[in-house]
Amino acid sequence: MTTKQLATLRQQLLVSRRRLVEAHQTTNRDIDQLMDAPRDPEFEEGAQTALTEFTLHRLTDSQRREVEAIDAALARMDEGDYGVCTDCGGPIYFERLLALPFALRCTDCATMEEKRRGQGVLANPGTM
Ligand SMILES: [Zn+2]
Repeated sequence: MTTKQLATLRQQLLVSRRRLVEAHQTTNRDIDQLMDAPRDPEFEEGAQTALTEFTLHRLTDSQRREVEAIDAALARMDEGDYGVCTDCGGPIYFERLLALPFALRCTDCATMEEKRRGQGVLANPGTM
């Protein structure tokens, strides 16, 4: 995989992660507006950082799993293990990663794992 391809995939992962987290931040803001709570200026100071942490706890299980899968993929990029199948150690092709940037297995191993578990890909990010 080229550096440029890796950069493209990293960008995709970051965009997906932001989309997942921000969708919930918008929801939180709407709830705040509905409640029309009085504002403490000191609370507002660190609110943005706290909000990001807080938001992760409000994600549904599947969304949180997706964020975790994205984080794991980003960590693998930093370690240089990205794009290597966790089962057979073979390469995961760029086309597959482009469609599924946080894939852990190559197409063959993912298909076998899916059959073994008898579950769809979406139901379990671990099989991707
Ligand atoms: Zn494999």
